[in-house]
Amino acid sequence: MPVLEANGLIKRYGQTDIIKGISLSVEAGETIAFIGPSGAGKSTLLRLLDLLELPSGGTIALQGTRVGRKNSERLEFRRRMSFVHQKPLVFSSSVFDNVAQPLKWRGFKKEDLHERVGKALALVGMEHYSSRAAKTLSGGETQRIAIARSLVTDPEILFLDEPTANLDPPSTARVEELITKIIKTQNLTVVMATHDLAQGQRLAGRIGVLMNGELMQLAKSDEIFLAP
Ligand code: ADP
Ligand code: ADP
Repeated sequence: MPVLEANGLIKRYGQTDIIKGISLSVEAGETIAFIGPSGAGKSTLLRLLDLLELPSGGTIALQGTRVGRKNSERLEFRRRMSFVHQKPLVFSSSVFDNVAQPLKWRGFKKEDLHERVGKALALVGMEHYSSRAAKTLSGGETQRIAIARSLVTDPEILFLDEPTANLDPPSTARVEELITKIIKTQNLTVVMATHDLAQGQRLAGRIGVLMNGELMQLAKSDEIFLAP
């Protein structure tokens, strides 16, 4: 059974359909990357699949259960997913508190935070940064902290929106290396957006090509053909 299924998804802003009836299914444990030029609808599609945005039409199902339109129900489903933004929001507090925040929102007790946060920081190689002020981190470090924060809740699905778009080549390489490690070692499904086909091919098993709000191709990474 697919972990995530979209059927005829539409997103309309004003009179314009930004996502024009997209259907797809994501298998448990796979990594799928949506590629396409700026404005193609990658972010919007990710935000729909992550239940951050309510679709104007169509449905989403998680493990075969259709997600309703009530906020309370959507929040319940959202708790099984994490989203890493292109420019992650960092709070003016320590790295530890930033990574612990989603656990606090979920009502974890203080004494239960340390082990989980420690594990997440170790996974991204940032265990020695725990007491640093998060605002003092570099772009690459910030992205790694954002990834730790997204993994601390043990999500079933991890969404990554252009995870390296704002990084220099060395930081990009490190973040890609980290994503590869997460895919190999964590028991989760990854759905990402990138404007870089080569990056999609390095990281993902399947690639979806978005153009102007439509899914033009969805195929294995090595079978994607782009007209020059
Ligand atoms: P991508 O991530 O591929 O660059 P986006 O999903 O960010 O594409 O945007 C797709 C299109 O939707 C763009 O033309 C953008 O201007 C438009 N768009 C995105 N969000 C909104 C919004 N909140 N209101 C109106 N238009 C939007
Ligand atoms: P993610 O976006 O990583 O899936 P969340 O769903 O926990 O994580 O949070 C999304 C955003 O919604 C956060 O960046 C935060 O601004 C806000 N948020 C989530 N839950 C709460 C909450 N209980 N109280 C206040 N803000 C929240």
